Amino acid sequence: MGEEFENWSGSLRFSPKRIEKPESTSELQQVVRRVAADGGTCRVVGKGHSSSPLAKTEQTLISLEEMSGVESADPEACEAWVRPGTTLEQMGEELLEQGLAVHNLGDVNVQQLGGAIGTGTHGTGKHLGNLSTMLLGLRMVTADGEVIERHIEEDPDFIRAARVSLGTLGIFCLLRIRVQPAYKLHRQEWCTGVRDCMENLTDLIEKNRNFDFYWYPRSDEVKLRTLNPPDETPSIPFADLLQEQVEWAPRIIAKTRDLRFDEMEYCMPAAAGPAAFRQVRKRMLERHRREVGWRTLYRTTAPDDAMLSPSYKRETSVLSVHHNASLPHEEFFADIEPILHDRYGRPHWGKKHNLRGSQLSRLYPEWEKFQKIRRELDPDGLFLTDYFRDLFDLQ
Ligand SMILES: Cc1cc2nc3c(=O)[nH]c(=O)nc-3n(C[C@H](O)[C@H](O)[C@H](O)COP(=O)(O)OP(=O)(O)OC[C@H]3O[C@@H](n4cnc5c(N)ncnc54)[C@H](O)[C@@H]3O)c2cc1C
Repeated sequence: MGEEFENWSGSLRFSPKRIEKPESTSELQQVVRRVAADGGTCRVVGKGHSSSPLAKTEQTLISLEEMSGVESADPEACEAWVRPGTTLEQMGEELLEQGLAVHNLGDVNVQQLGGAIGTGTHGTGKHLGNLSTMLLGLRMVTADGEVIERHIEEDPDFIRAARVSLGTLGIFCLLRIRVQPAYKLHRQEWCTGVRDCMENLTDLIEKNRNFDFYWYPRSDEVKLRTLNPPDETPSIPFADLLQEQVEWAPRIIAKTRDLRFDEMEYCMPAAAGPAAFRQVRKRMLERHRREVGWRTLYRTTAPDDAMLSPSYKRETSVLSVHHNASLPHEEFFADIEPILHDRYGRPHWGKKHNLRGSQLSRLYPEWEKFQKIRRELDPDGLFLTDYFRDLFDLQ
């Protein structure tokens, strides 16, 4: 038994036989070949911020933390090649030095690029796709230890599969991503009541570049968060402004999270979001308010076409519930989950959920196409574990 691995929230612990940290693509190839020759399996991990057991393995765990940094950037083409072990924070700073930035970030920027892309990590914004949509091309070490290179221009289906691939097609070793000229954003946080927020929700989502809100079950109040180009900030007459700041986008979109929590999140068709929120709020006020003081978060994302993207081909409302990492979350999440799932919700791959096999495949029109690509690349299941056999309904 090797050293214990623990995810960020502490809710996932396992002891891989070995943890490998290759420093180059050729070292990564050697690791993969050795695992295959020994008849073993392996999983690749990013920064360990997923709380579903995507990275869990009793065999070989591979971390690319030694393969980090922006390799090159082309401001004219608005593209960059970035190593997958780069954290989003490091990538933001290195791109900024070259006058570039990515189109959005999620709530934090500590994830590795490979991990964030691997699960379809998203921020908020009606017109902003998740971070996987940045992926234009890649180099990947496949189960036979070979390096393949693919680009959206030549093999769009492959990239659409790779964009949200959970480390099951191969291990990214270099990522070609879409970037844009660096830009500043005006961040504002507002406090208001649930009624005002919900009555104005469509407008808030439409008029702000990035908009989300937190609802607090104990106070029954909401905090609105908006990000806009500095000279295009709409005012919100029914809310009290709590704080504001203007900064370069990569330094202001994400926040630091010190308190540890577990989270369940579902992406629903945009139109289903308000009713889902109202039902979650009612259920929490009726049953969970005493135990759960943690906020519920409402966000939006643009549609995309990655085969396993929770925003696949639909405008999306995203609802997530949180619970303190030191407290049991199972009963609370299980009580809320059907409200979200019943509205054709697709769970965030990296957060807690209980869906498996056919419950998932029916949510993804290109599920079989993805599985075919996966089988061709990894016929012997080098990157599979019991969790994935269950998740993908493999015999
Ligand atoms: C505090 C906190 C805040 C969060 N905020 C958000 C948010 O705002 N929006 C959101 O959508 N999610 C959010 N998440 C979830 C998080 O972004 C995802 O779980 C993300 O995948 C974590 O990235 P990671 O680097 O930790 O990857 P890991 O969790 O370590 O891995 C995630 C997946 O990526 C795969 N992977 C990693 N590296 C590679 C590689 N090189 N090649 C191929 N596959 C690879 C892994 O095999 C795994 O399947 C948050 C999580 C936490 C704990």
